[in-house]
Amino acid sequence: MEINSSIGCSVTECQYHAGEKQYCTLDKIMVGKSESYTSKVEGTDCESFKVNENKTY
Ligand code: SF4
Repeated sequence: MEINSSIGCSVTECQYHAGEKQYCTLDKIMVGKSESYTSKVEGTDCESFKVNENKTY
């Protein structure tokens, strides 16, 4: 998978994560809010996330 060096990401559970390197492999992602209003970083989400079901923990 080719990394997108413009999108850093540490969510290794995602199927689009680059693995060893802390990057996303998508060309573009969508970032949204988990609530209608947020004033905290915790209220933001990557809406392009898709769980990697092949990965075991
Ligand atoms: S889709 Fe979102 S959560 Fe998944 S690797 Fe890319 S930036 Fe991270």
